[in-house]
Amino acid sequence: MLEVRALSHFYGKHQALADVALEIASGEIVAILGANGAGKSTLLKSIAGLVTPASGTSIRFEGADLTQLPAHQIVERGIALVPEGRGVFGELTVAENLQLGAYPARARAGEAERLAKVLALFPRLTERMTQAVRTMSGGEQQMVAIGRALMSNPTLLLLDEPSLGLSPLLSREVFRALTQIRDGGVSVLLVEQNARASLDIADRVYLIESGRNAGTGSAGDMKNNPDIQRAYLGKARTSTTASRPTP
Ligand code: ATP
Repeated sequence: MLEVRALSHFYGKHQALADVALEIASGEIVAILGANGAGKSTLLKSIAGLVTPASGTSIRFEGADLTQLPAHQIVERGIALVPEGRGVFGELTVAENLQLGAYPARARAGEAERLAKVLALFPRLTERMTQAVRTMSGGEQQMVAIGRALMSNPTLLLLDEPSLGLSPLLSREVFRALTQIRDGGVSVLLVEQNARASLDIADRVYLIESGRNAGTGSAGDMKNNPDIQRAYLGKARTSTTASRPTP
């Protein structure tokens, strides 16, 4: 459904992305792993139309070219971004934030059903509908941010570091929700520091290093790759002598 080719982006003279390629098929969770500053957020922002890619870039979604479209038209095509830091309106209530998500024309029909689905996904929002979002925990705010994005009726959800700053319990809840979202027919492109949890839920993975593609494969293969284990899963190089128990 999404095909990115030769994606480059410059902030002034600094090249944040160089010739990045990736694909997402319908019904997939795809995770992007990479060090801080590798260009992961810029990649998501380029797809969502929040930064303008360099000429020569091709971003096609359901066969249509997105590179010249403003962000709101990309939302109308069915792509929703949950940005790093969530981007929720803290002074507004949960209900108001969710309603704002349903603003795009593609979201107006079926708004009530979509709201019911969001509340089924995050039941703890049900009793918080009238609460101001700034008074909620980070994890609850993340649920509002994901819920708001889902209210726009996307077919592809982009998430930038959804577990950042969350307790382990709420992180698990967010990752569980992402698999349910995928199972409900929305594809997911996920940027995450929590490599272990993303490899657990993803179908495929792309590695990005210094703004370039540095590898891709199934999440299962990546989990068993010693280089990935060392770089992203905090596993030391296997040493038979070191791992032997002392007599
Ligand atoms: P992190 O995990 O730390 O958020 P990232 O992989 O998402 O990192 P980006 O935020 O995409 O990386 O940044 C890629 C590079 O572009 C970095 O070197 C960053 O400093 C630079 N950069 C990002 N945003 C801007 C900006 N608005 N102006 C100038 N440089 C920027």
